[in-house]
Amino acid sequence: MSRYAYFEGKFVPIEEANINIQTNSFHYGTAVFEGIRAYWNEEKNQLFGLFFKEHYERMLLNCKILNLQVEKSPEELVEITVELLRKCNHREDTYIRPIAYFSDLKISPKLIGYRTELAIYTVPLGNYLDLSRGLKAKTSSWHRINDTMIPARCKVAGAYVNSAFAKTEALLNGYDEAIMLNPDGTVAEGSGENVFIVRNGRLITTPSSSNILEGITRNAVIEIAKSELGIEVEERPILRSELYVADEAFYTGTAAQVAPIVQIDHVTIGNGEIGKVTKELQRVYFSIVKGENERYSHWLTPVY
Ligand code: PMP
Repeated sequence: MSRYAYFEGKFVPIEEANINIQTNSFHYGTAVFEGIRAYWNEEKNQLFGLFFKEHYERMLLNCKILNLQVEKSPEELVEITVELLRKCNHREDTYIRPIAYFSDLKISPKLIGYRTELAIYTVPLGNYLDLSRGLKAKTSSWHRINDTMIPARCKVAGAYVNSAFAKTEALLNGYDEAIMLNPDGTVAEGSGENVFIVRNGRLITTPSSSNILEGITRNAVIEIAKSELGIEVEERPILRSELYVADEAFYTGTAAQVAPIVQIDHVTIGNGEIGKVTKELQRVYFSIVKGENERYSHWLTPVY
């Protein structure tokens, strides 16, 4: 593997993909990024990009919220990403990080009058959360940002200060990950994951009006649950205490994948084991992303 980045219109060695410290977005967090995965299939000698187009569609909508002008279509961005992965010759599970930002060397937090630039880099990434066991989650004392402050649906760099507070608090207190609530007490999401519970055989997740990033893995899991497992899915507000009485709970995310939760605030979820539905969703999800399920090949972009 060799490391390149797409940086301000060109492919360059990663060491040359550097921004000036005066870069406007570096100071004000006014950048929009994505987190995308590609999975290596040893048997097929193939790297499968997962939901490439969907990630770039979301990125461009997020850029619209911040008035970042990326003059490229989702298809063009997919093409650049495939070319970058080929240049790097990745032959392992890989994470792709595109970021659009205001590149002017100017002071003032605003979303107008600046030039937009785009950078993409890739890095090998295995499991982001430990999937060999059930996770311990902590309801965070940090509330999730509200749409009247920084829209949570937007993957904007500055919003991740909120995530960093919650994740750090969870880690320092011996937990694996956070669950953030809204000020009204309803569940929002994890620091980098959406949250699902299972109750009485139904899958429940928070609606997009609960200040969440509209997760692409969330959508995929909803579809798998409905079409492969024949499970009903409810998108509705969840209160903290409903987490405690759930039969199963798990996180979803591009990095997190499908990550089971077995304890929340020291309360054992279900019988404390990884739940049946969670296990099944995890199994189907991994078979799809690794390119082993032909029915979902339209979710994947072969790189080689
Ligand atoms: N919520 C937040 C705050 C996130 O950062 C992420 C990761 N992108 C998710 C949810 C999950 O979204 P996705 O499934 O699209 O990766």
